[in-house]
Amino acid sequence: MRNIILLGPPGAGKGTQARYLVDTKQMVQLSTGDMLRDAQAAGTEMGKKVAAIMAEGKLVTDQIVIGLIREKLQDGAEGGFIFDGFPRTLPQADALAKLLSDMDMKLDAVIEMQVDDEALVARVSGRSTCGQCGEVYHDETKPWPESGECINCGSTQVKRRPDDNAESLKTRLNEYYKKTSPLIGYYYAKGNLQRLDGLASIDEVRESISWIMGT
Ligand code: ADP
Ligand code: ADP
Ligand code: ZN
Repeated sequence: MRNIILLGPPGAGKGTQARYLVDTKQMVQLSTGDMLRDAQAAGTEMGKKVAAIMAEGKLVTDQIVIGLIREKLQDGAEGGFIFDGFPRTLPQADALAKLLSDMDMKLDAVIEMQVDDEALVARVSGRSTCGQCGEVYHDETKPWPESGECINCGSTQVKRRPDDNAESLKTRLNEYYKKTSPLIGYYYAKGNLQRLDGLASIDEVRESISWIMGT
């Protein structure tokens, strides 16, 4: 198994699982959300252009994210790619199919992480990440250690996303159901859709993914 897509609504646990696969299976995580936030932090023209759209919870244009992915695919990945938060529209999925076939690569599995809306609201509103290494935390289910130091890197820099608020999340969920959920049927028809219960614990979800990947 090599290249996989983690498909699921905001807060489904994609980033949490992707980090584990990066650490243990030498896979490369391609998160368009992270790339767009990096562009914003770096103050690039593109970053400035997408800031307001992201804060509101709307999707940025296909052209922008396809360009970002195209660039990263060139670098290759020994252990395979994890597409996290991409593709999010049918045109993005078609573009990815073309990019992969041009490079003689294929998709091995599309893993749909199913989580209901109520749990997503709780997850997103309690989410924070380490400003240094990106470790993902949650106020209730995975709080920062008492010491205030990241379990992974020791940093004390807690980051919260400006779009992790109730109003933006509502828009993000609408965008997901309207524009991204059609990908479930798209990949089912292609024969590589796998589904898992994203409400299970982080460890259980991790095991389901390992099982799907045959490792
Ligand atoms: P989450 O992890 O909560 O699903 P992401 O970090 O993936 O959120 O995305 C944050 C925001 O970045 C999205 O709301 C959207 O504005 C933008 N974005 C990320 N990936 C894409 C994409 N593939 N297509 C369009 N917009 C995207
Ligand atoms: P996504 O990348 O899909 O937007 P994240 O991986 O950032 O989602 O997870 C969103 C929030 O939910 C984080 O605070 C994370 O700690 C928490 N979380 C992730 N997976 C689980 C799980 N299986 N059970 C409970 N909480 C989880
Ligand atoms: Zn850290």
